[in-house]
Amino acid sequence: MPLTPGNIYELLLDHFGNQDWWPVDKDYHKGNVSDPRFEIIIGAILTQNTAWGNVEKALENLKTSNSLTVRKVVETDLENLKTMIQPSGFFNQKAKRLKILASHLRENYKDDLDRFFDRDLQEIRNELLSLNGIGPETADSILLYAGNHPIFVVDAYTKRICKRLPVEINGESYDEIQQCFEDELHECFPKKDTAQLYKKLHALLVELAKNYCKKKPKCNRCPLKNQCEFNLIKTKLAVK
Ligand code: SF4
Repeated sequence: MPLTPGNIYELLLDHFGNQDWWPVDKDYHKGNVSDPRFEIIIGAILTQNTAWGNVEKALENLKTSNSLTVRKVVETDLENLKTMIQPSGFFNQKAKRLKILASHLRENYKDDLDRFFDRDLQEIRNELLSLNGIGPETADSILLYAGNHPIFVVDAYTKRICKRLPVEINGESYDEIQQCFEDELHECFPKKDTAQLYKKLHALLVELAKNYCKKKPKCNRCPLKNQCEFNLIKTKLAVK
């Protein structure tokens, strides 16, 4: 029987425990009187097509030069910004994307993230998607983790895991997977804080993909191995 997002959440929570994601350097922001949500926004762009370890190096460079604010990203010379975020890869594109987003926040919200986020979720999402280089995954990561808006983030890990288990979804598009997760989780846990639930499940899926459900999966120790069709077929073929 296919697993549901609710089953997956419970099994993974049991195995990995609570995950504290998105990582933000709270001490840095306290010391610099800066808004930690902007670090999440920057991280959501820097993490496109790269591993998180590379993003951390780029964020470290931005911290060293005190550049983790909307104002600094707007005012920093483009070439300098490229150099600082170089470890995250695709730095030419990403530097331009950071500049566009920071300028948008400056011109329309005067750097105030409360003003930016304190609006209807779909309105903010459409606005983010209209900016160069921001697709659904980046927009939803910003909305969920920086804005605390209840929207489930579908990343490449989630897609891979859903295909292998499989999770029963009417379609394979980003929107279809997102809708399935949101509907089922709402039905399964009507009383839970929705944004917190989405954050926790997304983080657990990332843990699963990083530890076991890699491109070449390590099914032997995976907490979902007894329910996973991919593993059951693989085991049957090995026995033959
Ligand atoms: S059993 Fe294997 S394929 Fe299935 S979810 Fe776990 S690691 Fe992935």
